[in-house]
Amino acid sequence: MTLSRRFRLVLIALILSASAAIAAGQPITLNVDASDVARKIIRVREEIPVTPGPITLYYPKWIPGEHGPDGPIDAVTGLEMNAGGQTVRWTRDLLDVYTFHADIPQGASTLEVSFQYLEPTGAGGPFTSGGSATDKLAVIEWNQETFYPAGAPAKEIMFKPALHLPEGWKYGTPLPVDRESGSRIEFKPIDLEHLVDSPVITGEYFNNVDVTPPGEPIHHELDLAGDSAASVEMSPEMRQHYVNLVAETGKLFGARHYRDYHFLYSLSDHVAHFGLEHHESDDSRVGENGLHSGGPGAASLLPHEFVHSWNGKFRRPADLTTPDYEQPMKTDLLWVYEGLTDYLGPVLTARSGLWTPEQYRNHIATIAAELGPGRPGRTWRDLQDTTLAPLVRGGFGGGWFNWKRGVDYYDEGDLVWLWVDVMIRNLSHDQKSIDDFCHIFHGGPNNGPEVKTYTFDDIAATLNQVAPYDWAKFLHERLDSHSPEAPVGGIEAAGWRVEYTDKETQGGRGGGGGFRGNFTSAVYSVGLSIGPDGRVSDCIWDSPAFKAGVIPGMTVLAVNGRKFTPEIFNQALIATKTGSEPMELIVENDDYLKTVRIDYHGGPRYPHLVRIEGKPDLLSEIIKARAPQPGTSATTGDHDEP
Ligand SMILES: [Zn+2]
Repeated sequence: MTLSRRFRLVLIALILSASAAIAAGQPITLNVDASDVARKIIRVREEIPVTPGPITLYYPKWIPGEHGPDGPIDAVTGLEMNAGGQTVRWTRDLLDVYTFHADIPQGASTLEVSFQYLEPTGAGGPFTSGGSATDKLAVIEWNQETFYPAGAPAKEIMFKPALHLPEGWKYGTPLPVDRESGSRIEFKPIDLEHLVDSPVITGEYFNNVDVTPPGEPIHHELDLAGDSAASVEMSPEMRQHYVNLVAETGKLFGARHYRDYHFLYSLSDHVAHFGLEHHESDDSRVGENGLHSGGPGAASLLPHEFVHSWNGKFRRPADLTTPDYEQPMKTDLLWVYEGLTDYLGPVLTARSGLWTPEQYRNHIATIAAELGPGRPGRTWRDLQDTTLAPLVRGGFGGGWFNWKRGVDYYDEGDLVWLWVDVMIRNLSHDQKSIDDFCHIFHGGPNNGPEVKTYTFDDIAATLNQVAPYDWAKFLHERLDSHSPEAPVGGIEAAGWRVEYTDKETQGGRGGGGGFRGNFTSAVYSVGLSIGPDGRVSDCIWDSPAFKAGVIPGMTVLAVNGRKFTPEIFNQALIATKTGSEPMELIVENDDYLKTVRIDYHGGPRYPHLVRIEGKPDLLSEIIKARAPQPGTSATTGDHDEP
């Protein structure tokens, strides 16, 4: 689409008039009062240097790392503007609710903007627009506490931020501190781009753990805030795993692109659970007992977000790199941004000892099964199209997920990049690997947090530099495939194969498992996921259960004439192997009951990786530690120190 010449001139005039009211040279003063954050109220006051005339202000809309227009504008309340001792009337743009217009009166040189940011009292929106504050901790996201003037890129708008915390709360952030007095922290002047990239974690129960490996010149720390004193206590063994993680990234990338690094880690049942990457920190959140019983999912979270400092923040797709938070982002290269990260994160999780080799293999088996028989939607929707999932929305689960597909560029990207890694090893006769690609692609001098953009052609060219091959064709074939089979070529070339047995898959990341925690996964047998109350959370398209008439949202009331419990269902599933009768369910659909008969006789089926005899085991080679690890017999690896 292109704009007419007349419209373009009008647009330029509008932009010029909008920027005329910003006074250059002085920073915007930003006071964030989070002293009342336990009541989920944050009070903000900004002083924006201006000149008289019309001004346009934006509230951040497209949030970096969230890949979508999900800035929580609905949480902004009590908005007032004043200038030159007068109230300034604001109006919201009719076509964009994140854009505000006002007129600065003659003689005024400062626009005061004040508002409250209300933390969600319920579930809230996705990622950082979800719950970020409890009675005992909070994560302050600067994009939520800031209006900024239109007309200049974020990296040219300077702020002088200050933060008021609840009394006695401690904090962690990569943001350089100017001075502190009591509960008030004043930060050094910083541009908007780096301010938004540097959240603050704060809490009553707080633990700061140094995870810098011996001899590493750059400081790394974990800043833990939790809902109890026990939640933030880390065992020496786990600390060592994170020290290993930092050392392993040095081996993998051979360079760092930050001044120091802070893992900001929230441990609470009352905040949204996710991870969000930044250049010099990550905002990761799990349940209150995440450090002690978080399982494989929690163990692989920090490695994933840490990888993003190189892959996503430093190296970023050109069309995902926008000058401010108002311009739309294009998400077509998320299979690199997230997919390669989703490959390297688990590899580093295993290399640093946070996962055992078996947990890594179960993770790979699980995603291969989920993308094969667990994802018939691959036949109509290819990997490339899933990169638009953040904009299509609804891509994070729910009924028919197997047929609709969602953010599959994570898991499918993982398998594609494993395939690339194994291809490099084979093409180079085991002289090169993905580590060499990362050394070139993510290397270079450490200039602090900076962005170096790339395109598809840059990816193919760098792969060619490592191991000559028609990589563009290889990648396009994977991106455009409509095969019902998962891309398991890398697994098989690495000496392993996905096999289904009646033994439940242990570990892995969520999904694929089996009859655990009262959740019934009969995905690879009858084609059903069923909650503890019998509610069908998903039904595989064209599976035996689908053909019998089951859909997501129904509730299973009885199995073979007996009231549903997960145990009863599982017993009936085991019995399908020996019995000749179909499995009979009574299901409820919108208050109506019906009986369905599932013609299935295979018993339970769960995915596992098994060795292909006679083929070298490259998978074990890939996850072997590169850095020396105290107390283990890990190899010193074949790559030089950064
Ligand atoms: Zn990610």
